[in-house]
Amino acid sequence: MFKKLDEVKVLRDPIHDYIHIEYKIIWDCVNSREFQRLRRIKQQGSSFVTYHTAEHTRFGHSLGVYEIVRRMCEEVKGIRNSLTLEDKIVVMLAGLLHDIGHGPFSHTFEAISDIKHEIYSCRILEEDTEIHEILENAKRGLSSSVACVINHTHPNPLLSQMINAQLDADRMDYLLRDAYFTGTTYGEFDLERILRTLRVKDNTIMVKESGIHSIEDYIMARYHMYWQVYYHPVARSFESVLSALFERMRDLLAVNPNALNGLHVFDGFINVDKPTLEDHFLLDENVCFYGFQQLMFHDDKILSDLARRLVNRDLFQYKDIDDSKLIEQITKRATRAGYHPKYYIRMDRVRQRPYQPVGDDKSIWILMDNGEVKEISESSTIVSSLIKGRNRHDNKLFFPKGI
Ligand code: CA
Repeated sequence: MFKKLDEVKVLRDPIHDYIHIEYKIIWDCVNSREFQRLRRIKQQGSSFVTYHTAEHTRFGHSLGVYEIVRRMCEEVKGIRNSLTLEDKIVVMLAGLLHDIGHGPFSHTFEAISDIKHEIYSCRILEEDTEIHEILENAKRGLSSSVACVINHTHPNPLLSQMINAQLDADRMDYLLRDAYFTGTTYGEFDLERILRTLRVKDNTIMVKESGIHSIEDYIMARYHMYWQVYYHPVARSFESVLSALFERMRDLLAVNPNALNGLHVFDGFINVDKPTLEDHFLLDENVCFYGFQQLMFHDDKILSDLARRLVNRDLFQYKDIDDSKLIEQITKRATRAGYHPKYYIRMDRVRQRPYQPVGDDKSIWILMDNGEVKEISESSTIVSSLIKGRNRHDNKLFFPKGI
C-alpha cells in the first residue's frame, strides 16, 4: 500500500542539511503540480522588501516541516512505538501539505481576499486535484485523514500536535528557516536538543524537564522574530500598499466590470465571490507581479501609482498612532497634497504573544523528573514572566512620503 522508492531521495537543505524521502507517495506529492506551485510563493510574502535575501519559498519550508515530522516519527520513541505505518504516512503528508492552500503574499492576501488558506488546503486534498488522486490511489479515504490532521479533527490528537500546536514541526522549521534567510540570529534555537527531549505521555507530546532551556530559547526566538522580522514596519508598509491596490481594483470594478482593460490575472479574487481551485492554482506571486507591472500603465492614476509603488518599492512612510489628532492632521495634509485618503492613509495594528498558556493540547507540556506534568509557564520563570508582562502591540499609520 505504501511503497518505498528503490532508492531514498536525498535533498540538500540549508536548515536540515538533508531531507530524506523514502516513500513513493511522498515523492509523488512533491512532484504534483499543486506542490510545485509552492515554488512560486515566498514563505514570507513581504519580508524581502526589508531583508533582501528573504526570497525562500513555501516549497522549501513544506519540505522542512515534512523532514522534522519524519524525524519525530523515527527518533522520538513514544511516537515511533505508538503510531502505525499508516499514521506515520498520514502525519508526514500533513506536514508536507499543510501550506498547500496558501495564496500569494501569505496572510495579507487572506485578509484582502477573505480566503483562509486552511480551507483551501483541505479542498486541494479532498477535491479533484493531482494530490487527491495520488492519495486516494494509495488508499481510499487517505486524503480525508490528512485533511483531518491539518484541521485538528483527527481521532488521534498526537498527529495534529506534531504539525499544529505551540511547539510543532511547522513553527520549528519556519523560525529556523526565516532566521537563516533573513540573515538574522533571532530565530535560532537548538532543534536537535528539542527532538532529543520530546516524550509522549497520555497520548500528548511533552518535553522532559532537562529540555526546558531549549524550549525557553525557542519561545524567545519566536518573540524576537515577530518584532524584528514578521512585524517589521517596512514589510507592513508593502502590505498596506498591496491592500490599497486591491481595494482600488475592487472599487473600479464595482462601477465598470471592464475596468481592468482585459487584465484577468486577479479575476478569481476580485470579481467572483469564491475562487475555484483552478483560479487559486493560477494565482501566485509571479503572476501578481506581472499584473502589477501591467497596472502601472493603467489610466486610473491611483491604480497605476499604487502598482508602481509595489514594483519599485516606493513604499509608504509610517508613524506610531498615539492620538487621533495625528491621524486627522496627516489625513488633511495628504488630501491637500492630492492623495485620496481611502487608499493613501492606511492603518495597521498588530499584537503578539510568544506563548499562550491555554492549557489545551496545543500547549507546551513539561514532563518533570518526578513524573508530574506541568505546563511550561508553570515550570519556567522566563516563560512565566514573558506572559505576565503587558501584551505587546504596535499600531501604525502608513502614508506617502513627503507630505
Ligand atoms: Ca507553515
